[in-house]
Amino acid sequence: MSINPWSEEDRKLLIDTIAADKNSINFFWNCRNGRVVQLCGNLIPENISDPFAYLNNKKFIKETSLAAFGMFCTRINSFITDGTEESRVAADFLMRFSEDEDYRMCHVTVVILKDLDNRAVSFYITMRFFKEKQIAERRILDNFTSDKSPEIFARHIKRMMNGNPEHEIAFIQFDVERFKLINDAYGEEAGDMLLKYLKDSLNVICSDEQPFARLTADVFMIVIPFDEESEIIDFIHNLEKNIGKSYEGIEFRLVFGVCIVEDRTVQTRTHGDNATLARQSIKGNALNNIGFYNGKLKNDLYHQHYIEDNMKSAMLNNEFVMFLQPKYNISTGRIIGAEALARWQHPYKGLIPPTQFIPVFEKNGFILNLDQLIWEQACKTIRSWIDNGIEPVPISVNISREYLNTFDVVKKFNELVQKYDIPIRLLEAEITESCDAENTSDVVRKMKSCGFTMLMDDFGSGFSSLNMLKSTSFDVLKIDRIFLSEFMESERGRKIIAHTISMSRDIGLDIIAEGVETGAQAQFLQNCGCDVAQGFYYSKPISVEDFNKQMHKETAESEVTKK
Ligand code: C2E
Ligand code: MG
Ligand code: MG
Repeated sequence: MSINPWSEEDRKLLIDTIAADKNSINFFWNCRNGRVVQLCGNLIPENISDPFAYLNNKKFIKETSLAAFGMFCTRINSFITDGTEESRVAADFLMRFSEDEDYRMCHVTVVILKDLDNRAVSFYITMRFFKEKQIAERRILDNFTSDKSPEIFARHIKRMMNGNPEHEIAFIQFDVERFKLINDAYGEEAGDMLLKYLKDSLNVICSDEQPFARLTADVFMIVIPFDEESEIIDFIHNLEKNIGKSYEGIEFRLVFGVCIVEDRTVQTRTHGDNATLARQSIKGNALNNIGFYNGKLKNDLYHQHYIEDNMKSAMLNNEFVMFLQPKYNISTGRIIGAEALARWQHPYKGLIPPTQFIPVFEKNGFILNLDQLIWEQACKTIRSWIDNGIEPVPISVNISREYLNTFDVVKKFNELVQKYDIPIRLLEAEITESCDAENTSDVVRKMKSCGFTMLMDDFGSGFSSLNMLKSTSFDVLKIDRIFLSEFMESERGRKIIAHTISMSRDIGLDIIAEGVETGAQAQFLQNCGCDVAQGFYYSKPISVEDFNKQMHKETAESEVTKK
């Protein structure tokens, strides 16, 4: 069944009204029986079954608009075959209405009349040339080159927001991943062509209720009204589907950032900035190309930017320092070793803990620089103990898994012990083992065969499993702080800790508990057969200077006891 909302009277009225407009062509296209009914203008013969194909064949569309026009036609055809929720679509093309005319910018509007299955039955099509002023405004909207243009875009957004008080609004931003590389690989002309294609595509895909603009080189912004958040994803997927993944042999990937407007009184620029943050948050993420903005994201990103902007100068200014957290023998209460932990001694912000910057460094690769610095400081400290007659204790340094495949840790460690001429047993290494990591075992085995003591860090923290113990090459198991504190709370948990300790000892692994915060914990560990502990109960991580004082004190005390 077809629905025709036009009564004969309405139709006449409409024809009279639009006939007065000499600048436009109006017609019905009954796509079911392949017929065209001209309302005003005489562009398309009545017996034409597909008016858009006709326009194309007659070369009424300028070459530069052809890609966008093709996409537009595909979309219209999908309304006929697959149906659509849309009731009206519009796009701009460079067109002419006869062979001897110049091409001019034309706004094409298609009102869709549908059956009950939402499939298009007929279309009411209007083609209207732009007035000069409109063309200028469109051009500005397409490309922000003049100072005034952001204001025009903002005005369009305002108008759209005011017109949709009952809908939610989303700012969707996207850019072409590694656009610079495309420019380098294919040339700037090809890059420009791709950008033009994207702009033309947006022209076709976005309705008048979805204003868009090109913000900078390859960054585009679209603002859309919506009811359900899934509509945003649908919109993006539709955009991707229409635009595709390559154009004229150039392969590309789009990355999107979305900011949903929560407060309409906030400046539109802020929503735009938030969409930018969301987009940047997923840069380099191979699985996901849509980032959503939320407040935490903003803080995280500012934080990350701050760290990345300052890390290199901080390294040059020696702001990264090594702290030592003593390891104690529970029975004797004496220091038997230390863990080297990085601190950022910031000139204004004070001491920054590694949990704030190490995850950023692990992401951007700077961690290798920091780790090498800490390893070197550890070796220097051991050397100075030996030189100053202090009985040296082993220092364990942390190794990140990030560079294990690309950097020769074993060679570096060997070079360091040689350079500082220290006994190999005094430099130990901690690696967080997890069940998904296969690359560690090889390194651990090689390090061990050179004589370094290897500690499995954070055992029981969620990424490790008992299964790993079966074939491990580590020498020492470090029980994680959370594992200790959480399992200590119940009888069942205490049994698990006790058995983990005795089982590890049975298979020849030494045990150290980290994050020991109470005397009760220390006592319990000792009863279970774990003799070494590290934690705030004994000492927080301290500067090398304070650590040395601690060592002197112990030496003095033992001298007194001996006497
Ligand atoms: P981790 O290697 O497991 O180091 C132990 C962390 O637990 C340290 O935190 C230490 O200060 C903290 N801790 C020790 N005892 C207690 C306690 O009793 N209670 C509590 N609440 N915490 C305790 P920190 O220094 O903030 O280091 C955090 C993590 O950062 C380290 O965990 C390690 O994974 C990483 N890290 C620190 N320095 C370096 C480094 O130089 N290189 C690498 N790759 N990672 C490092
Ligand atoms: Mg550690
Ligand atoms: Mg640990």
